[in-house]
Amino acid sequence: MSGIGKRELIELYDKLLQFYGKQNWWPVDLEYHKTHGSDPREEVIIGAILTQNTSWKNVEKALENLKREKALNLKAIKEIPTEKLMELIKPAGFYRQKSLYLKEFANKFPSISHLKNVKREDLLKVKGIGKETADAILLYALDRLEFVVDAYTKRLLERLWNIKGSYEEIKRLFEKNLPKDLEIYREFHALIDIHAKEFCKKKPLCEECPLREKCIKSCF
Ligand code: SF4
Repeated sequence: MSGIGKRELIELYDKLLQFYGKQNWWPVDLEYHKTHGSDPREEVIIGAILTQNTSWKNVEKALENLKREKALNLKAIKEIPTEKLMELIKPAGFYRQKSLYLKEFANKFPSISHLKNVKREDLLKVKGIGKETADAILLYALDRLEFVVDAYTKRLLERLWNIKGSYEEIKRLFEKNLPKDLEIYREFHALIDIHAKEFCKKKPLCEECPLREKCIKSCF
């Protein structure tokens, strides 16, 4: 697929880490879960579904609404009336669709313990769970070594090294070359996302970009 391997990917990771520092994804409200006796990993799952096609800022508003109703857990999502759920998650957009996805997920997996032995293929069978959402749930909630690829990852690889590929091809490129280390997988995905938001935007800000010397699509 490309001449890019371990050295280039680790160099990229180091450079991004050095520039932005650790991102410590996935952001969860540990205090809330401590107080309410819920599992923070369920917040990761709910957030991963809500974040489809919207910004994290909008997801946060929906998560706040769920917290207010003490519904930031899979059991509550399963039990809450769909109309009420739609109202609570409205700020995250596509709320009709997402309420069905959340319901479907919570009906199938009403608590984190039901996901103990779940396989990627099992998640992909749930309505509304695509590859990116499945991998985000596996990596950030279930401690599995599944690299998450998103549109930002694809854009960065294309601009940096002229690499184009399917979701699975790009995922394999990372997984084949990175050390089997959860923290690296988690941080790398988060660092790519922040870089895409800060510099490698739709219209890239190459002049100040920390990667410009290694980037073949740099504007220089
Ligand atoms: S130099 Fe420009 S195109 Fe390359 S990674 Fe940086 S912002 Fe993106």
